[in-house]
Amino acid sequence: MKNFKYVFGPVPSRRMGISIGISPIPKGHCNFSCIYCQLGRTRCMTNKREEFFSCNDLIEEFKEYLNDEINFDVVTIVGEGEPLLYKDLGILIKKLKNMTDKPIAVITNGALLSDPSVRNDLKNADIVLPSIDACNEEMFKKINRPHGNIKFDDVVEGLKIFSKEYEGQLWLETMIIKNINDNKEFFINLKNLLSTINYHRLYINSPVRPPAEGFVEQPSKESIKEAISILEGISIDELVSEGFYSEVKDDYEAVMSIIKRHPMNQFEIKSFIEKRGNSNTEEFLQRLDDDDNIEVINYKNYYTYRLK
Ligand code: SF4
Repeated sequence: MKNFKYVFGPVPSRRMGISIGISPIPKGHCNFSCIYCQLGRTRCMTNKREEFFSCNDLIEEFKEYLNDEINFDVVTIVGEGEPLLYKDLGILIKKLKNMTDKPIAVITNGALLSDPSVRNDLKNADIVLPSIDACNEEMFKKINRPHGNIKFDDVVEGLKIFSKEYEGQLWLETMIIKNINDNKEFFINLKNLLSTINYHRLYINSPVRPPAEGFVEQPSKESIKEAISILEGISIDELVSEGFYSEVKDDYEAVMSIIKRHPMNQFEIKSFIEKRGNSNTEEFLQRLDDDDNIEVINYKNYYTYRLK
């Protein structure tokens, strides 16, 4: 199987099953620079929607991908940055819907939902998953570090309007970070704010992968429990991941193709290659350690591998 440029996976998604990802955004282009981002600090801060790649190229590659008859549950538009920055998103979604019966999901930070044309672009998606990690401007700036033109009240207003117009599934996600938004006061304020939004689910997440900033820490289990109970959310950490999967024959190339878009830790790599009949884990991890194209990050004794 050839190495694709825009399409990746299948990767396990704890919320949606086996997901085929499509990335219409060049690496690190985002209108936020979240302190917990697993891609590191945002390399290109932008709030301008652009046709970063030709929509036809994305569609052609997806068509080629489908030729391999891979099993999957969902197609997820998820950038190595913010997918709503892709100017042809509406056309991309429409075309994808003509090619598969599987749901089309969009993972987003939600900042551009205040723009009516963006909301219109999303109307054909089956699931939209925006994040909301703050309940006021100060906290928003501290956690999400948005582009200078983005104001918290506008983001919330956009989300409210979208939630009333949109006919698909709206699943929100909140990242809880120790000593930043892991307290009862925040949970209650967020609950009040969420009461104005028509959403179907709220997922509670915590930073399990190496964050952009070293000071970001995981909250206690008690805080997560409190968040779940006050916000009536679902804990992402408790959802079972189905495990990584790749059609690429060579084990090393398969891991490389996954970590290009989705970091894996040593345990995930071990179980992935063992399932494929490779028991030489130590040698395999050593090869990854020695590879200059790979960044290895030690986070709480989890060695996470991602492509530089
Ligand atoms: S919005 Fe997503 S991609 Fe952008 S900085 Fe935050 S976590 Fe990273």
